[in-house]
Formats: sequence, C-alpha cells, structure tokens
Amino acid sequence: MSYDKISVPENGEQITYDEEADELNVPDDPIIPIIHGDGIGKDVGPAAQKVLEAAANATGRNIEWMRVYAGESAREKYDENLPDDTVEAIKEFNVAIKGPLTTPVGAGFRSLNVALRKTLDLYANVRPTYHLDGVPSPVKNPSAMDMVTFRENTEDVYAGIEWEAGTDEVQQVKEFVEEEMGYDSTIHDGPVGIGVKPITEFGSKRLVREAIDYAIENDRDSVTLVHKGNIMKFTEGAFRDWGYEVAEEEYSEDVITEDTLWDEYDGEAPEGKLVVKDRIADNMLQQQLTRTSDYDVIATMNLNGDYMSDAAGAQIGGLGIAPGANFGESRCLAEPVHGSAPKHAGKDKANPTAMILSGRLMLEYMGWKDAGKLVRDAVEETISSGQVTYDLERQIEGGTKLSTSEYAEAVVERIEELA
Ligand code: NAD
Repeated sequence: MSYDKISVPENGEQITYDEEADELNVPDDPIIPIIHGDGIGKDVGPAAQKVLEAAANATGRNIEWMRVYAGESAREKYDENLPDDTVEAIKEFNVAIKGPLTTPVGAGFRSLNVALRKTLDLYANVRPTYHLDGVPSPVKNPSAMDMVTFRENTEDVYAGIEWEAGTDEVQQVKEFVEEEMGYDSTIHDGPVGIGVKPITEFGSKRLVREAIDYAIENDRDSVTLVHKGNIMKFTEGAFRDWGYEVAEEEYSEDVITEDTLWDEYDGEAPEGKLVVKDRIADNMLQQQLTRTSDYDVIATMNLNGDYMSDAAGAQIGGLGIAPGANFGESRCLAEPVHGSAPKHAGKDKANPTAMILSGRLMLEYMGWKDAGKLVRDAVEETISSGQVTYDLERQIEGGTKLSTSEYAEAVVERIEELA
C-alpha cells in the first residue's frame, strides 16, 4: 500500500494479523500510526510517545512511530478533516493511538472520533477505571473502584441517523411516524429534530461477548449489563435480553446469572463462576458511587457508556488520568477518555497520563505486558512522589507542579530506574 499523505518509516516492520490462528504477529520494532490530536493533543501526544518509546526500549524493543493526521492538523496540511490515508493506515497497521479531536457542537462536521470508530468497525470502546496511588479523588475510598467499561461504539443515538428541524427530510420522517406508524399526538407541533436509535442483536451480542471473554481471561467476578430497558423496551431492553442470551447460550459452563445465584446459591457465587447481572442506568450511576466494589466489568450501549465512564473517571481523579481504547476484529485504536480541552491547548500544562495509560492498553493488546506494567508502575510512582501536572497539584498538599513535558521526562526516568 502506498500513501500520498503519510510517510511510512524506512525502518521497522508492520504488525500483521494471522486470520487462521486469529492472532496478531507483533515484531520487536513495529510501525505504529499516531494521531497527536487537536487542542491539548499537541501537548499530550508527543509526551505519551516519549513514555511509550522508553517502555519499549527498556524491554528490548523499539517503536517506529508513523505520524498520521486528522482534525486540525489534517486541515492545515491537506485541507480535509479525515484523509482516507489516515483511515487506511490504521486499517493496514492494525494497532494505533490517537489524541483527542475537537467536534463542533450543532453546526459543522460530524464527530471524527465517531467516524473513525464506525469506519474501522471498532465496536468496543474499553475504559478501565482504577485508582492510582497518590491521585487525589473526591470520594472517601477511591481504591474501591476497579471497573472496566465495555461501551458499544457503532450503534445507539450515536449512529448519526438524525434530521434537522425545518428540513423536508424531518417532515417526511414525522409524517411517517404519525401517519404510518400511528404515533399521532406524540410529537409536539412546530420545529422538531428527530434521531433514530438502532440497537441490533448483532451489535449487542458481539459487545457482550467481548466483555465476558475479558472477564473470564482476567479472572473478574462479574459482568453487569447496564440499560434503560424499563423505558426503552425494544432497544435498551433488547440489549439486556440479548446480553443474557449470549451468557446463557454461549458461556453456560463459565457463567451464572444473578437470579440463579440467589435462587440456588444464596448469593454466594460458586468457585470459578462469573456472575452476569443487569442494572438500570440511573440506578447504576448511583450504585457506582455508593456500592463501588460490587461492580467489575460493565457492558453497555454507546450513550450510557459515555456518561458512566466519565463519571467513573471523576471518582478516581478526573479526566486527566482516564485511559481508553477502541477494539475491533484484530484492531486496536487507543485514545484517552478526555477531549481536546481547547482552553489549555499548546500551553505545555495538560496532564498526559490519560494518553500514556491509553498507550499502556495498546502495549498490552500487542502482548507487551511487561512494557505495559512498567508504564503503569512508573506513572504511579511519579504521581505518588508528588510530581504532577497542574490539575492534580492544586488538589494535593506539598506536590511539585510539572509541565506536560517535564512530567513525561519524570515518568521516563522512573521507567529507566524500574527496568
Ligand atoms: P474535555 O475533556 O476536552 O475537557 C473538559 C475539562 O476537563 C477541561 O476543561 C479540563 O479542565 C479537563 N481536562 C480534560 N483533559 C485534561 C487533561 N489531559 N489534563 C488536564 N485537564 C484536563 O471536554 P469538553 O470541553 O467537553 O470537549 C472539548 C472538545 O473535545 C469538544 O470538541 C469535544 O467534542 C471533544 N472531545 C473529543 C473526544 C475524543 O477525541 N475522543 C472526547 C471527548 C470530547
């Protein structure tokens, strides 16, 4: 494959996917595409790159970075938001990392993040939320949180099927809903915007499968299906039903449902069994705060997952440290939970931890568990020694405020000491 808008590094090898064995072949010097991102992406992107490179070097490997462009940097260079070359490169090289991209509210283009996730069919957005020692938190016992959220990435109200008020299209949809489908006094008169919320059996089941596989592989206690099926019965309710179907039909050896747990085992899970349960989203948001340790792996739809993981991120110290990654068949695009925080852009002050720890998820996906552990340990030691960026420094006593780049250097030094 040749690219007009990307220079492929001369050194390094491609990560490939062996379809028959269903596994990635990861060389010791992989080429990895990176989008630094908009706003604070300019600060946190290069910082994460340095730290991940140090962890690779410390474990006898090397990363050959390949800069690819999206958002502002693509507009400046190529006068387009998302060049095809960027999407193709992420497809071809299988594993990549990106910083945040700005999405204008209301007018303008649709979200590039959503476009990337949909085009690359990155159907699971995975957000681990655990507390790092030394990070200030607004709750009494932040270490009770050790949750991994699997958020469906390609459906729900995020699918982008919506029509603007005042257009012929919205009028046609309104008439169809009222006249053909019989909802004649449901939508108020006057200007209306209408969106569609598709939730499919296919999309729900593959997401729940991912969550259950992860829970089994990582020896987790439970998977909770989070939905608002009491109100949206045929979309969110169907997600819950399909989720239980997967659990009962495909994992009957490994899984027990919460109902069976109480009916037959008095609430005590038998050794080695994964409990599958469900919670209504609003209840879940309060239980996440009040009964934190009851929740482990979460499987949910796009919008619930977005709200839940930001709220969970706040519980363990805020967006500056909350990592994420998007997974599809044989493909990973790591990205922090936070956005481009334009107010702080280009000031060398934003916290790069979220992007660094997103990179850790990418390293683990590549099978570089030792490098991933080094990254986590070095970040934790740096923060608990009080060397932090402005967002954490203002919340702890006696901390030292570092710039983005100084903090990245401090983490690199720890990696070198720990290796
Ligand atoms: P945001 O996450 O960019 O910022 C919210 C606030 O969180 C900031 O003002 C800042 O105080 C804090 N914050 C976030 N990241 C931080 C960091 N690394 N270090 C220190 N503080 C940090 O959310 P927003 O303001 O709602 O969105 C800004 C833009 O980012 C929007 O265009 C939005 O669409 C986009 N966005 C992109 C992504 C993505 O690329 N995946 C995700 C969320 C939002």
